Amino acid sequence: MKFEVRKYPEMSWSLSRHKTMLTCKRKYAYDYYVSHNGWLNDADTLARQAYRLKKITNLEMHFGSVVHDLIYQIIQRVLNNQEIPREEAVVDEIRHHLNRSFIESTKKEHLWQHRPKHFTMLHEIYYSQTNQLPDHKIKKITERLHTTVSNFFASRSFADVLNKQQMRFLESEKFRYMTVDGVKIFIVMDLLYKDLTENKWVIVDWKTGKSSEEDRGQLAMYALYLQQKHHIESLDDIVIRNEYLLDGTHAEHQLTEQDLINVQRLYGISLEQMQTLLIDVENNIPQPIEHFSMQEDPRICARCNYQELCFPSLSNV
Ligand code: SF4
Repeated sequence: MKFEVRKYPEMSWSLSRHKTMLTCKRKYAYDYYVSHNGWLNDADTLARQAYRLKKITNLEMHFGSVVHDLIYQIIQRVLNNQEIPREEAVVDEIRHHLNRSFIESTKKEHLWQHRPKHFTMLHEIYYSQTNQLPDHKIKKITERLHTTVSNFFASRSFADVLNKQQMRFLESEKFRYMTVDGVKIFIVMDLLYKDLTENKWVIVDWKTGKSSEEDRGQLAMYALYLQQKHHIESLDDIVIRNEYLLDGTHAEHQLTEQDLINVQRLYGISLEQMQTLLIDVENNIPQPIEHFSMQEDPRICARCNYQELCFPSLSNV
C-alpha cells in the first residue's frame, strides 16, 4: 500500500479536538499541526519531537487503553467461537502490560525515542526526577484491576455479546467517521450492534474511570453517525449505553432531536473557530505557532505532554 505524504494534515473534527482547542491553543497546534509527519524518518526535528511527546500517556490512560484492547479481543473471541479467557488470566495480562509500560518508560527510553508509537512512555516517569511511579497512583490502579475485569464479565453488554444469536454485530472499524461539508468527523465507538429481538441499535461505551456528568455531545455524535450510515429514522431505535466498569453499573441514554441540533451547532461554531487559526483554510495551513496562545494555568501545564517544548528551561529532561 502506498501512503501519501501530505505537507499539511487533512482537516478533521472530533469532540476531543474541540476540547483540546478550548484547553490550550498551543497544545492544539502541537497535537494537530506541528506533530504532523513527525512519524517520518526524514521529518524535521521539531515535528519528530512533537510527535514523540504527543504519544506520551499516563497511568490511568494507559490502563484504560489496555482494558479497552483486551475487551475488544475477548469480544472478537466470542464472536469467532473461540475460548474465552478466565478472569484471572485477563487480570494477569493487564498487569503484564502495565509492568511492561513501566519498564519501557524507565529502561527503554532510547527505543521510545525512535519508535514512539511502538513503545510506551508514561508522563509520570518522563517528567519526574525519579524512576518511580507515585504510590497513590499504583494503589489506585491496583484497586481498579480486579473490579474492572469482573464487572466487565458481569456486564449487561457482555451478556448481550454472549447472546450473540439475537444480535447483529457491526464490523469493528477503529476509525469510523462521517463527512460533513467535506470535513471528516471521527467517531470512536467501543461496540455497536443491533438487538434483533428488541429491534434497537445499541452503542456501548466502556468507562474505566469514575462516572462523570455525561457528555451528551459525544452521544449525539454517535446517533448522527448511525443515522447517516445506517439510515435510522427514529432516535427511539438507538440505545446508548455507558458501562461503568469501576462500579459495575450501566446507564442508558435516550437522545432528543434537540441534542442533535445542539451538537451540529457546536460543530459549526467549533469549526469556524478552528478556521480562524489557519492562514489557508482550503489547504489547512496553520498560522505561525506564536498565534496559538499558551495556557496560563500552571496546573494544566503540569499535566501536559508538551512542557518540554513550552518551558525548556524548567523541563527535567
Ligand atoms: S505546556 Fe501548557 S502552554 Fe504548553 S501546550 Fe501544554 S498546556 Fe499549553
